[in-house]
Amino acid sequence: MDNEEKSLNFIEQIVEKDLAEGVNDGRIQTRFPPEPNGYLHIGHVKAICMDFGIAEKYHGVCNLRFDDTNPAKEDTEYVETIERDIAWLGFKWGKIFYASDYFQQLYDLAIRFIKAGKAYVDEQTAEQIAEQKGTPTEPGVASPFRDRPIEENLQLFEAMQRGEIEEGKMVLRAKIDMANPNMHFRDPIMYRIITSHPHHRTGRKWNVYPMYDFAHGQSDYFEGVTHSICTLEFEVHRPLYDYFIDQFSGPNFCGLSPYGPDYRPKQREFNRLNITYTVMSKRKMLQLVQEGLVAGWDDPRMPTVCGLRRRGYTPQAIRSFMDKIGYTKVEGMIDQGLLEHVIREDLKETAPRVCAIFDPVKLIITNYEGEGETLIAENIDGHEELGTREMKFGRELWIERGDFLEEADNKFYRLSPGGREVRLKSSYIIQATGCEKDTNGNITTVYATYDPNSKSGTEGGNRKTKATINWVECNSALDAEVRLYDRLFAVENPAAEEGDFRDLLNPESLIVKNIKIEGSLRSELHAPILKDGIEQENHYQLLKQGYFVVDPDTTADKLILNRTCSLKDNYLK
Ligand code: ATP
Ligand code: MG
Repeated sequence: MDNEEKSLNFIEQIVEKDLAEGVNDGRIQTRFPPEPNGYLHIGHVKAICMDFGIAEKYHGVCNLRFDDTNPAKEDTEYVETIERDIAWLGFKWGKIFYASDYFQQLYDLAIRFIKAGKAYVDEQTAEQIAEQKGTPTEPGVASPFRDRPIEENLQLFEAMQRGEIEEGKMVLRAKIDMANPNMHFRDPIMYRIITSHPHHRTGRKWNVYPMYDFAHGQSDYFEGVTHSICTLEFEVHRPLYDYFIDQFSGPNFCGLSPYGPDYRPKQREFNRLNITYTVMSKRKMLQLVQEGLVAGWDDPRMPTVCGLRRRGYTPQAIRSFMDKIGYTKVEGMIDQGLLEHVIREDLKETAPRVCAIFDPVKLIITNYEGEGETLIAENIDGHEELGTREMKFGRELWIERGDFLEEADNKFYRLSPGGREVRLKSSYIIQATGCEKDTNGNITTVYATYDPNSKSGTEGGNRKTKATINWVECNSALDAEVRLYDRLFAVENPAAEEGDFRDLLNPESLIVKNIKIEGSLRSELHAPILKDGIEQENHYQLLKQGYFVVDPDTTADKLILNRTCSLKDNYLK
């Protein structure tokens, strides 16, 4: 095995073997099948990277299929956001399909099953059916309706579809084997009645809806999917997936696929993504949104794609995270620190640096004469190729309160009266001379003198000081709101804890502050910019504070920045 081969994940190995053996005439077709009942989260992105990644790598196609078989929970709103999120991640689908496109074909197949004596209408309650299932070691009990005559099954199923039967009163079940060691074979439900909600695409046309197991494999088959890749919990469903397809392919082929009798989709499973300090269940996320515990699906603390985007994650960082964690057959939990590590590594290379003052106090340079001047600073120190920006400099500056001490010992290298030289970042060297206080003893103004021959970028700029501090010039400074986000939950695995997951929220997951930031941002685009046809956010490193992204709530009057992550990397490799 050469290196190239060794680095293939196990799905890629399967695909390469299939290609080598000419399975499905060398065709590669995958699909990403979200149910439009919520927003995509980072777990879905793992599946997206796999489904689209395989198609890209092996010159196949990946289609988008909305698995819309439960009108009670699904909505067009979700269809739109799912498309937008996938496009933002940089993936291109072949076609868009809906499971609801196949409702007629699936219904016809169900009729065919009934006529072949392979399905029956059961009038028992969901509880009764569950009770009869048995256990993996004990066979189940047959429903009293199991041997209903075919003609009666047909009439009842048609009555179900006409809306003549109340929701919950009847289901259509496959007649397979109540003693099969695989519980999914114990007469699984194929169809149920839903009359309480119209379908977001088919309206009131249907009163019966296919269950996942009856819809998914068949949809794959109708479309010509070759590799139906999903998560591990579906591994136990795979024999049933194959059973249904066996009924109308191979020797039973009846023309339902353009690819002929030998074509078969194959299901393959990989491990789900779980990340510490968050929840990945759509139901729990919906609850957080509906109860106002977060600001919406795109709240920057949410693990949703739109939340990560608003937090300042980039598509390339998210994709590189997926490459790092890989695909296996073993479930596990990924440290959120790794996700933070990849975005930090990404932004380190690309985010322009700017000065911001979080706890401002005024500094007056008493020997500075004149109107002020414009200094030039590199966007990223030492990277001339990444451009420069203009920084206004003048007599009055904002500095961090913590950078001045009226009385300091000799371990404090920043500003303090008594001759210490301190460099103002990308600017001049100053020395503090004193300060002014209000009646409560709080410092209101710091006074200093500067050395006009110490400007960075000139000969005098090479003079070393023990400390460099940040500053912004008062007249040109902008007021900005920063939203300091932290992990949403206070515990590593909220899903594993007893009690209500909402009690485990991190009370300090959002702190809002008003800050001063350098005026160079005034001319920057605050709205997302178009790069390669995709909207991208504006990211900055606020020096000494962390990486931030411009929030879409920003207006011409008010700049809002969200903290993506701090500068410190605690992720242990
Ligand atoms: P639910 O079934 O609760 O609606 P779901 O998370 O399974 O939620 P789907 O929309 O059915 O959502 O998922 C679409 C695809 O994404 C499926 O192939 C599924 O296996 C995959 N997927 C969902 N969650 C994860 C995850 N945490 N890690 C990897 N893949 C995931
Ligand atoms: Mg699902």
